[in-house]
Amino acid sequence: MLCYDVRNLLADPQNVITVDETMDTESVSFGSEIYPVLDKPHVRGVIENLDGKALRCSGQMELTLQMPCSRCMDPVRVPLSLQFEQRFIQSRELAGPDTDDESEAEAFDGMVLDLNEFLNGEISLGVPMKVLCRPDCKGLCPKCGHNLNEGPCGCDQTEDTNPAWDSLKSLLKAHNNQDGHEV
Ligand SMILES: [Zn+2]
Ligand SMILES: [Zn+2]
Repeated sequence: MLCYDVRNLLADPQNVITVDETMDTESVSFGSEIYPVLDKPHVRGVIENLDGKALRCSGQMELTLQMPCSRCMDPVRVPLSLQFEQRFIQSRELAGPDTDDESEAEAFDGMVLDLNEFLNGEISLGVPMKVLCRPDCKGLCPKCGHNLNEGPCGCDQTEDTNPAWDSLKSLLKAHNNQDGHEV
């Protein structure tokens, strides 16, 4: 899967390999989190011969992850559509001193181009930091943990003052009293 014999492509710069495959990815790990994959990544793109030594793979992939809402922790369907473009240079061409040109390229052995590692990396880069189950998600009650989207829990939310915020406010107050004449 997603491994391509590129010998013919390297021999003839007019050749192009078409990529149209579904990756067999069950989950995506992101930091310490593991998110289940609901729709497996479908990859569409091309592999082109750049100059006989390097290849370029570009295209797009679609997948759907399940991630917890960052406010209420309910599972959320997160569809992702990711564009990618990467140059691959034959390993033996990389043997010489590094140039800027090569530093961003991945290596391949000259016969087979395996896109799995690269594409898995692209998915990790595309995972959003935060998702919400809905734009106005009310989150969980900070006192009892009740999901406030399901209705009020009975806790008195107005009394829930943050001590850190209070001390900041009194600091500001003291500051304003000191230099009250300044803008
Ligand atoms: Zn939510
Ligand atoms: Zn509560």
